Amino acid sequence: MANQLLRINRHLEALVGERHPETSPRALQKAAHYLATQFSKSGWATGGQLVSAWGKVYRNVVAIKYPDRPGQGEELAPLLIGAHYDTVSGSPGADDNASGLVVLLEVASRLRAQPLARPIWLVAFCLEEQNLLGSQAFASRFRAERRELAGAIILECVGFARSEAGTQQVPPGIPIAVPTQGDFLAIVGNEASRSLVLQLEREAQRYAAGFKPLSLVVPGRGEAMPQTRRSDHASFWDAGYPAVMLTDTANFRNPHYHRETDTVDTLDFEFLSNVVATVTATAIQIAGVRP
Ligand SMILES: [Zn+2]
Repeated sequence: MANQLLRINRHLEALVGERHPETSPRALQKAAHYLATQFSKSGWATGGQLVSAWGKVYRNVVAIKYPDRPGQGEELAPLLIGAHYDTVSGSPGADDNASGLVVLLEVASRLRAQPLARPIWLVAFCLEEQNLLGSQAFASRFRAERRELAGAIILECVGFARSEAGTQQVPPGIPIAVPTQGDFLAIVGNEASRSLVLQLEREAQRYAAGFKPLSLVVPGRGEAMPQTRRSDHASFWDAGYPAVMLTDTANFRNPHYHRETDTVDTLDFEFLSNVVATVTATAIQIAGVRP
């Protein structure tokens, strides 16, 4: 545990800082390079997918781990876990979304020696803050290549939590009771991803004592509740894939959202570690070799 906290700290130190295509393109590139290097250090096959926008080229960082025995399970649809690595202009993006990236890196490290029955893809998306351009390019190409997906788990702001009453705002039009303490993890899916929502909820309860998941399943692609479409999972919904977003609810809880004060010292490392445990356990459930 102490080791994990040290690693999380090191990743945050490397990643936090404005990462924007216009105002800090070098930092955006540096983040992509850091993620690719860390994924390969954890033994994952790492590459990139190019994304064109405004006459320039950006990159989704992709890391894949295949089933160990050649031929076995390669035909099974992969599980995808993703998080965006860009920020808005003017924000160091600790919660949004270095927190999601840290979960990706920790999952990569924890699954290093895990025998798999189906492939796992870890994807760090570019240009989420630009109308989801990175994940849209990814999901529509995946669809065009007629590939299947067991599911996509998208991490969107997963590091901010407060246990005092009054620290959680209720997003408008949400049809479930939302606690006023901002210390739950929201699991947002649609009908097509209901079983993935339930699986994540179960693992959150089983592996992280005192960790509170709050699930919401929306109809269709969330058209009636635009607040539920605000990250890369929406690109997968639109391409017809089952996808779920894990989130601390961003601006409905975090006063530093999209501001220059979205810094490492505001994050809750225990909350973040619980997300790591939940996602790792779910990934093993879905893609691991059954004992
Ligand atoms: Zn974000």
